[in-house]
Amino acid sequence: MKYNEIFEKIAAELKDYDQIGQVATYIPALAKANPNKFGMYLVTREGHSYFHGDTDETFSIQSISKVLSLVYAFKLVGTDLWKRVGVEPSGSPFNSLVQLEYEQGIPRNPLINAGAIVICDILMSELKNPYQDFIKFLRSLAGNPNIDYCKTTAESEKECGFKNSAHINLMKSYGNIENDAEEVLDFYFHLCSIEMSCKDLAQTFMFLASGGKNPVNNKRIITAQETKRINSIMLLCGFYDEAGEFAFRVGLPGKSGVGGGIVAIYPDQYSIAVWSPGLNTKGNSSKGIKALELFTTITQSNVFGPS
Ligand code: GLN
Repeated sequence: MKYNEIFEKIAAELKDYDQIGQVATYIPALAKANPNKFGMYLVTREGHSYFHGDTDETFSIQSISKVLSLVYAFKLVGTDLWKRVGVEPSGSPFNSLVQLEYEQGIPRNPLINAGAIVICDILMSELKNPYQDFIKFLRSLAGNPNIDYCKTTAESEKECGFKNSAHINLMKSYGNIENDAEEVLDFYFHLCSIEMSCKDLAQTFMFLASGGKNPVNNKRIITAQETKRINSIMLLCGFYDEAGEFAFRVGLPGKSGVGGGIVAIYPDQYSIAVWSPGLNTKGNSSKGIKALELFTTITQSNVFGPS
C-alpha cells in the first residue's frame, strides 16, 4: 500500500475517534484551536512527500522547538552541553519541579521545560542575536522563509509562566543560569510560540532521519554521532512521562508539543509529522499518537524491528 493510501485508511479509521482529548487551555491562543483539525505529512529520504488532511495549516509547535534549540546549542558548544543538562528520562510531567531540587539545578534532560530553559541560556550566551539566528536556522532547515514567532502566544506564555519562573530561579540559585532570568524566559517563550505546519515539521526534522545531513541540499547540520545522541534523547525523553508508552506503541524517536503536533523519525527512511490539537492527560496529542501507532504497525517501520 502507498503512503497516501495508508494515511486515508488511518484518517477513516480515526474519523470518529472517541478519545480525542482536550485542547490546551492554559493560554487563549491554544484554547481556541479547533479539535477537529487533523493532518499527517511524511517525507522520505529520497525527498518524496506524502500527506493527508490539514498539513499546510500552521499551529503552535510549543515543545517541539526544544529539539531544535538543543541541536543548535549542541552545534555551538559540543559535549560541554552535558555539564549543564542530563540525558535521563524524567518520568515526570514536562513542568515538574521536583527532580530539579534533587539534581541541584541540573535538569534531567533538555526536552522538559527546565532543560529547554538551560538550552536557551546557552544560546543567549553564545549568540549575538539569538532570536534572529535561531529563526534563521529553522527557516533553512524547513526550506520555508515564512516561519516565525507568534508575539501574541509568547506574551500569553509570559503572563502565565509562573512555573517556568520557578524553574529558572531555582536553577539560577544553583548557578546553572548565566544570563538575566527574565531575558532567558522571554527567549524560551518565543521558542514555544513558533508556528509551523505538518509539512514544515516533517521537512525540518528530516536531517535527523538522514544521519545529520539535510537530504535536500546535502548540507551537514550535525555529525552522525551527534544525530544518534539527539535521536536517543527524543526516544527516551520526547513525551515526558509518556515516553515509555510512545516507544511501546509507536516505536520511533519523536517529540510532541501542547499545540497538538508530534514529529517522529525513522532513521534512514522518513520523517513524519502529525497534528491533532486534542491532548491526553500527559499533554500529548491523543489522536496523533494513535495515528502514528497505526502507521508504524501498517508499515512495519519502527526502530525495534518489524512487528
Ligand atoms: N509553553 C509550554 C510551557 O512552557 C510548553 C509545554 C509543551 O509543549 N509541553 O509550559
